[in-house]
Amino acid sequence: MTARPDHFAFASDNTAGVCPEALAALAAANAGCLPSYGDDAPTAAAKKLFADLFETDCDVFFVFNGTAANALVLGAFCQRHHGILCHAMSHVDNDECGAPEFFTGGAKVLPVDAPLAKLRPADLEPLLRRGHGVHFPKIRALSLTQSTELGTVYTPGELRALCDWAHAHGLAVHVDGARFANAAAASRAAGHSPADLTWRAGVDALCFGGTKNGLLTTEAVVFFNRELAREFDYRVKQSGQLASKMRFASAQWSAVLRDGAWLRHGAHANRQAQALAGGLRDLGFKLVAPVEVNGVFVELPPAVVAALEARGWHFYKFVGEHGYRLMCSWATRDADVAAFLADARAAVGSSVPKPTPRPGKKKARG
Ligand SMILES: *Cc1c(COP(=O)(O)O)cnc(C)c1O
Repeated sequence: MTARPDHFAFASDNTAGVCPEALAALAAANAGCLPSYGDDAPTAAAKKLFADLFETDCDVFFVFNGTAANALVLGAFCQRHHGILCHAMSHVDNDECGAPEFFTGGAKVLPVDAPLAKLRPADLEPLLRRGHGVHFPKIRALSLTQSTELGTVYTPGELRALCDWAHAHGLAVHVDGARFANAAAASRAAGHSPADLTWRAGVDALCFGGTKNGLLTTEAVVFFNRELAREFDYRVKQSGQLASKMRFASAQWSAVLRDGAWLRHGAHANRQAQALAGGLRDLGFKLVAPVEVNGVFVELPPAVVAALEARGWHFYKFVGEHGYRLMCSWATRDADVAAFLADARAAVGSSVPKPTPRPGKKKARG
């Protein structure tokens, strides 16, 4: 029996449901009464698992979503007259409705373009010379996304160079890790640990995504630079992000951290993206970014897009005029990949003109 394709499977990695480990943990956590606001044993146990995972003492806070996690960390780093460097495609700049500016009380987000959604010190250097003294915000934070908005991954060496540069100029480093699990799974194959991807490279704070990895409404904020976490609990509460029944967040995190389910889910999503990308390449489509994690970024001609949409598929235009994003998740099934590829093949067959490579075409949205 073949499963019916899930037409929302590739629209985003947050169209998927809650993973079985988290769902079971929620049910198990539902027995009896425990102290509220995080003063409970399951929350202490979850925080210990983060310290074990990262092989260091760290301060951990749970919030409900990634926008809050990012904005609150940047709020802890910056005063209102500061500036925040980030990539031009970053969620922080494009998808958070000005929350970083709001929660810092006015700090300016400064987007910088660079290939494949990855920043390098040389891309950032000119920003330090922008403006004249007090007439321009004082740059105080560097925000990186791991894995990036184009499905690429920073290596520990690349992170180290960025963090060294940032610290040399008095900047603190934030990592938006909405897809940290995918980056960690990919990096593991190269022998790099979660510690290598964070504090050992110099990262000051990580927003560790739970939602896209299969958890229900929880993201972990992990401070490796514990001085910067001072009074962060007050920021969490003031912003309406403090869960009274925190044990339900903690139980989910413990469930996926304890036996490595978070990495298995990340690796599964990454593998499905490889399969999808391989199939699309075989059909003659051009990828606009290497597939390093769970996103496939591919050029599709309008007729193919129209045919796929007519068959019920949902996915977003993401890069330039013809670049589309297909995301895989912990829940993406082989049958979903096969069904999408079969429909893409049918669409190519019926819509003759195949995508022709256009040299020199701008690849990334600014
Ligand atoms: C999904 C995502 C977030 C979190 O978004 P919320 O909807 O606020 O949970 C943050 N950063 C990136 C790069 C994302 O893809």
